[in-house]
Amino acid sequence: MAERAYFDWNATTPMRPEAAAAMAQAMAVPGNPSSVHAEGRAARRLVERAREDVAALIGARGADVFFTASGTEANMLALTPAIETSNEKRPRDRLVISAIEHSSVRAGGRFARDAIADVAVGADGRVNLAALKAALDGAARPLVSIMLANNETGVLQPIAEVAAIVHAANGLLHVDAVQAAGRIPVYIGALGADIVTVSAHKIGGAKGAGALIRSSDDIHIADPLIRGGGQERGMRAGTENVAGIAAFGAAAAAAGSQAGAEAARMQTLRDTLEAGLKAIAPDAVIFAEGAERLPNTTLFSAPGLKAETAVIAFDLEGVAVSSGAACSSGKVQPSHVLAAMGVSPEFARGAVRASLGWSTAESDVERLLNAWRKLATALSKGRRGIAA
Ligand code: PLP
Repeated sequence: MAERAYFDWNATTPMRPEAAAAMAQAMAVPGNPSSVHAEGRAARRLVERAREDVAALIGARGADVFFTASGTEANMLALTPAIETSNEKRPRDRLVISAIEHSSVRAGGRFARDAIADVAVGADGRVNLAALKAALDGAARPLVSIMLANNETGVLQPIAEVAAIVHAANGLLHVDAVQAAGRIPVYIGALGADIVTVSAHKIGGAKGAGALIRSSDDIHIADPLIRGGGQERGMRAGTENVAGIAAFGAAAAAAGSQAGAEAARMQTLRDTLEAGLKAIAPDAVIFAEGAERLPNTTLFSAPGLKAETAVIAFDLEGVAVSSGAACSSGKVQPSHVLAAMGVSPEFARGAVRASLGWSTAESDVERLLNAWRKLATALSKGRRGIAA
């Protein structure tokens, strides 16, 4: 059995072997992709090949991919009043976001606080479409940002329906697909999204590379975050992270070609895991269990469970899980996602996330369940102790 069982793929994934190999090869290329000599041209080829591969992952064109240093940066770049189309160059007058977005979207990009409207979600973790319509009411040129899959619950959002509503309101739709891309099929055209964020380290690339991908060259951001050199066609100045981008491309190609088989395998393992969690502790709850979810994510709790202590207990048993979002672990505060779903703060405090990936094995699931058995037994003894 492996020394550890890693169940925190939504925080970050191990690098795919294809990505690690591409990264090592790229590091041996000394040139700057902006240089005209042979070394520079070799580096440029790596970047442009990766651009095509990342575009293909979501059915876009390479020319519409802009590399950034993270998913966070891509979200920040997209969320600006200065996102234009050829027909509409006036500033966007409202940003509409859901209550369960990642903190990089919740921060609101470059919109003034009072120009940001929130959309509620239901108890199933899905965006409330009537609330979306209400949030758009009275806006002339809104920008809407709704994620495709939630990082904590894995719940998939009804993006095609959202897109129809947003476009009918003269809006543009940004979709944070950081958790979905590479795990389920994602096609920018089928989603109806105007602009999409993806991140390398969630699909088996290296940490520190992301991309903002538009549906067509009709969409333009007039105020890039980082200005200076003309890299990324003026959308993101700074010499490209060639090795990180090459790894991103290789990871995207591998994730794309294996997506169907990986998703089916992960779903089977995840279902085994959830059945086991409930068989061991019949009062355990899987959040948003009935909703359409990513095949790799489970967020669970049980009465009396404290996520901070559970994560440590699992860790001592050689199992890496997390308490909600990676960015908020370490801070003892209930998840904004569960709060938005109407889960009580006490119960939300016990939420533990286990997320799987392509190398998760049945033995890893067994290991997690063995650790859970110990934890659940201690928990029920504790409860009986208190009751006595
Ligand atoms: N969006 C979502 C839904 C995420 O889960 C994350 C990371 O956890 C991000 C954006 C940020 O991506 P990055 O870590 O590349 O900044």
